[in-house]
Amino acid sequence: MTIFFNDEFLGHVQDPFHPESPERLRGIVQKLKEHGLWKNVIPSKTGRLETLLLVHSDDYVNYIRTCGDCSLTLDTQVHHETYGIAALSAECAVDAAKYSKEHGKPTFALTRPPGHHAGKDYGMGFCYFNNISIAARSLQKMGDKKIAIVDVDVHHGNGTQEIFAFDPTILYISTHQAGIFPGTGPVEYVGKGEGEGYNVNMPFQSGCGDSTFDVAFEEIIKPVVSQFKPDAMLVSWGMDTHYRDPLASLTLSSEGHVRQAEQLIKLSKICGKRITFMLEGGYDVQALSEVVAGVIGRSEGIEVPLEFTDIIDNSCLGRGTIVRCKQIASKYWKL
Ligand SMILES: [Zn+2]
Repeated sequence: MTIFFNDEFLGHVQDPFHPESPERLRGIVQKLKEHGLWKNVIPSKTGRLETLLLVHSDDYVNYIRTCGDCSLTLDTQVHHETYGIAALSAECAVDAAKYSKEHGKPTFALTRPPGHHAGKDYGMGFCYFNNISIAARSLQKMGDKKIAIVDVDVHHGNGTQEIFAFDPTILYISTHQAGIFPGTGPVEYVGKGEGEGYNVNMPFQSGCGDSTFDVAFEEIIKPVVSQFKPDAMLVSWGMDTHYRDPLASLTLSSEGHVRQAEQLIKLSKICGKRITFMLEGGYDVQALSEVVAGVIGRSEGIEVPLEFTDIIDNSCLGRGTIVRCKQIASKYWKL
């Protein structure tokens, strides 16, 4: 799997104790190097204003560029270097999706800051620019019609959902933990206007893990994405669903995570293996690193030993949410 990464991403430090720290990427890079997987790495050249404007308003982009030191929210601070690094992060997502289009192969944007909480004219939840939404729009600019976004981060991608609320050309499916930040993403929400039916939310209760995600994939994600027939798939890839994660309490194991990525890659055959994983959250560096290395390793035929493999949910704790989601989504999809 070709990796897109820039050293500059390590220069983004909100404050020394912030969970969204450069150690996350350092841990991943080190783990990939340990297993001989740090190859096929492509850096982006520079973050371009026109890329950001595919999704964000002029005023908002200007504000991030010129405010100097300011806070968007308590946990999302801007420093002088933030604009350049966040713009490069968006460019990395675009380049990874473009490479996947040109080569018909899965790619991975190993990027930060993350993006899925950022809306057209706001940032929050450690996010400044919505990398995945920008990548989706850039693919459409290059001729693609329909893009499926699958968001498996533990937090709901409120920014992505809002950006495409009225848009039937972008399918947004999210699995997330119910009742935590940012508080959006109820199962009843299906999109608005012409976008009705093109938004699918699965908010899972605390404790849901491997078996819940397997069933959600088989019964909802796979059939809906298949029927949507996208030109490409983009994944908001968050490892904060791991049972070791300090910020949330879903319970995916490392093996469950690797299987989830493999299922998505297999599904991408419907669009010529065009799938791009974009890093969002994941705050236990060891778990994050072994999952990423596990997925990239399997795609290269190299088995990376996984340490965190406790199966905590083996009886599909989230069945109720999946049943409710099927009831709602079956108005628009054959499920
Ligand atoms: Zn998250």
